[in-house]
Amino acid sequence: MKRIHSHEKEQFKKLFRQDRVDRFEDRHRILEVFLQTENHITHSGLMQLLEADGYRLEPDFVAETLKLMCHFGFAQANRFENGELRYEHRHLGQHHDHMICTKCRKIFEFEDDALENRQRQIASANGFHILQHKMEMYGICAACLADRDQKMPLVSAKPGETLVITGFTGGSSARMRLMTMGLRIGDVIEVITNDSAGQVVVAINYHRYAVGRGLAQKVQVEPVNAAGGDSTAAEAG
Ligand SMILES: [Zn+2]
Ligand SMILES: [Zn+2]
Ligand SMILES: [Zn+2]
Repeated sequence: MKRIHSHEKEQFKKLFRQDRVDRFEDRHRILEVFLQTENHITHSGLMQLLEADGYRLEPDFVAETLKLMCHFGFAQANRFENGELRYEHRHLGQHHDHMICTKCRKIFEFEDDALENRQRQIASANGFHILQHKMEMYGICAACLADRDQKMPLVSAKPGETLVITGFTGGSSARMRLMTMGLRIGDVIEVITNDSAGQVVVAINYHRYAVGRGLAQKVQVEPVNAAGGDSTAAEAG
């Protein structure tokens, strides 16, 4: 990576000088600090790194430099899950895709030639020529899966999870209400929506059920593959 980075700095000098970009030294410093991290970093994250290195630069100047870095192909910006814009290195001739943990928000990179080829085949079978693509998988990372309580109330489940109902807590009236709604122990449910407030929407056998938060607290669930002891990595769609 060191060699690529010194090559990047050379190119940066050439392009920025040729374009007579002002404050070259400050901009070059931003590039250097940016190249030191392998993270997918936000503008404010980069500001913090610059300050930690003793550089006090105006936020607008840093934002403009990031834009120039994207323009000249040293950086690329991505908004994962419509969050804040994040920047990462763009190394020519290299490509990777991303897995994003919806629990700890960590971003994992991966490369897979078979997957890349398959995408090209699908495109060309449709008479389509790919110019660029991104593949983002949302799910739960290995560390978060390991620390997650297997048994949890439905109210703590994440959208996209497939779970099995293992019991109802609370009084018999709550149990009755859930049974009347059509929820039964042993039902396999898919979580459709679970915002921090409001109903939890789940699907059971192609039917949708909206469960209030209070009731969702009383539905005990477990990940489907927990029972079988199968702990394959997060799958997401
Ligand atoms: Zn890809
Ligand atoms: Zn995680
Ligand atoms: Zn990346």
